[in-house]
Amino acid sequence: MSDNVLLAHGSGGKLSHDLIEKKLLPPLANPMLNRLDDSAIFEFSGHLAFTTDSYVVNPIFFPGGDIGKLAICGTVNDLSMNGAKPLYLSLSLILEEGFSLSELDRIVGSIKAAAEEAEVRIVTGDTKVVNQGQADKLFINTSGIGAIPLGIDISGANARAGNKIILSGTIGDHGIAVMCQREGLKFSTPVQSDCAPLNKLVSQMLKSSPRIHCLRDPTRGGLATVLNEFTQQSNVGIVLEEDKIPMKESVKAACELLGFDPLYLANEGKLVAIAEPGDAGKILAEMQQNIYGRDAAIIGEVSNAHPGRVIMKTKLGPSRVVDMLSGELLPRIC
Ligand code: MG
Repeated sequence: MSDNVLLAHGSGGKLSHDLIEKKLLPPLANPMLNRLDDSAIFEFSGHLAFTTDSYVVNPIFFPGGDIGKLAICGTVNDLSMNGAKPLYLSLSLILEEGFSLSELDRIVGSIKAAAEEAEVRIVTGDTKVVNQGQADKLFINTSGIGAIPLGIDISGANARAGNKIILSGTIGDHGIAVMCQREGLKFSTPVQSDCAPLNKLVSQMLKSSPRIHCLRDPTRGGLATVLNEFTQQSNVGIVLEEDKIPMKESVKAACELLGFDPLYLANEGKLVAIAEPGDAGKILAEMQQNIYGRDAAIIGEVSNAHPGRVIMKTKLGPSRVVDMLSGELLPRIC
């Protein structure tokens, strides 16, 4: 086998079979995938959640993760944000001719580790190769299916006045980590991406209170965009308290230096939850027991005033409107 991806690896012929059988199947093997039929087959009953996402992050390796880990965590998290227990994922790779097969091994290793941590199985997949210059190294698409437990009703349209807003941890880590890696910027404390599967955190939260109304992961567009989406879907207002929003000192410093507003930076291992005021304390306490929720905090509440708007009480005193992200802050961040 050559050390690099050849166009023939996407031919559907012998080299394609080699790629699948030598590079992908050994780390990702499971009885459903091993059948190698045209589709995966599974039984189901009840409500299913189904989601898909494509990953084009640049660079493909960054502190705290890589495109493979991101592809698994992103899809696991999107299923989790509707309260679903993630079960089965598809994995499609679009490879650029000439891409290093040893880098592919590293990425498949990350995919395996992330899938094991989240306890999901990759049950179907595809590989394509395009000519050099017609893609940038590697793009990944993952789709996922999850089972929604009975009685769970989570939607961005469910926020009501008086509800509390809980954020699972520090914001901006992923955006700053990828940007610094891309631009070759070095800080005394390097920022790591927060890329992580949140399904176990969510299932712990739902155990402490099944009455969680909204959940969303603030990925592209950041916290500001997710909160604005909630105000529009639920036709409510949100009041945010700036000094309650967890942020690493290193991210704060990088934002000040580079002129970024952390409210708009991408996160890949954080969630925002909206819950009844009477439940928020116990949900928060439960989150803080989980490694991915230990910095969780209540950052604001839902209001009937100013529907469709997010208002932030700033540290300095005056309030300001926090709009949805307009334009593109950092392209190819996930
Ligand atoms: Mg999402």
